[in-house]
Amino acid sequence: MKTFVMKSIGRVGFAEKPVPKPGPFDAIVKTTNALICTSDSHTVHGAIGPRENLTLGHEAVGVVHEVGAEVRGFRPGDRVVVGAITPDWGDPASQAGHSSQSGQALGGWKFANIKDGVFAEYFHVNDADANLAHIPATVADEAAVYCADMLSTGLMAAENAAIPMGGTVAIFALGPVGLMATAGAKLCGAGLIIGIDNVPRRLELARKYGADVTIDFSRQDPVAEVVQLAEGVGVDSAIEALGGDITFQNAVKVTKPGGTISNAGYHGGGEFVHIPRLDWGVGMAEKTIRTGLCPGGRLRMERLLRLVERGRVDPTLLTTHRFRFDEMAEAFEMMDEKRDGIIKPLILFG
Ligand code: ZN
Repeated sequence: MKTFVMKSIGRVGFAEKPVPKPGPFDAIVKTTNALICTSDSHTVHGAIGPRENLTLGHEAVGVVHEVGAEVRGFRPGDRVVVGAITPDWGDPASQAGHSSQSGQALGGWKFANIKDGVFAEYFHVNDADANLAHIPATVADEAAVYCADMLSTGLMAAENAAIPMGGTVAIFALGPVGLMATAGAKLCGAGLIIGIDNVPRRLELARKYGADVTIDFSRQDPVAEVVQLAEGVGVDSAIEALGGDITFQNAVKVTKPGGTISNAGYHGGGEFVHIPRLDWGVGMAEKTIRTGLCPGGRLRMERLLRLVERGRVDPTLLTTHRFRFDEMAEAFEMMDEKRDGIIKPLILFG
């Protein structure tokens, strides 16, 4: 089968590999739609260290091709979404409610990390009964595929932000995760949603997804502006959806005492992430910092699919570009360089 791989740090391309076989509890899925993620670019640039011929990708939907003898809930031909994070559900971390950290920190992240990913004609899913979900007939593949990561991570950011009903929230960076966090904040009942970015297309989308006010940080000081909008005391909740030291510091600065900072960003650079000491109340302002990695699992996917099915959120507005699988190299380069206002490129398999 055809796969799209990281050949080595900084190099990508197509490679032929055998179609994987399932273990007793596993499934093999034939890919129909996939999305390229910014973290695929991070991986190719060395974020998780060197890899050789590792199949990229972790956001996909498809049709079940083959299942192991012990799989109960899925049969060949079923349309399925699989979470980007495919935890080991028997692990103590999963039992404690932290399935994304199963095995070790971030251990639920297997695709294009510790095993081949989903940019392939077929891919392998461990623990199929727990990690796959049926796609309702009324939900298109190109919408369902957002449940794998963008909806799950973005909504997690809003859930972790503990936004009080009617409360105020600031969202730093409006890439696909920040935009889904915006939709999530609205679903959580936020009374004032402030989105911060500098790309006009993203600011406009944020308003569509529920932002009441958007701030272009290249024109205005986002900290002063957010604090002023939040009655001079700061917001109840701030979401960091970039993974930048400055945006993280700004999130701490604009959050009022007793509030919550929810980090969804991937902090890939530098040795430290800094907490501004005085804005943190010298460690005593009762500000909570919560972190999380995209939640996976069947129950999570089913809930997200319900939101899509009922029209509570339309993630397909994020699709700015479409490519066929054989145009993957071009799509990847475009995403890598964030050309042409790209937000999410959808990859269609034959
Ligand atoms: Zn992703």
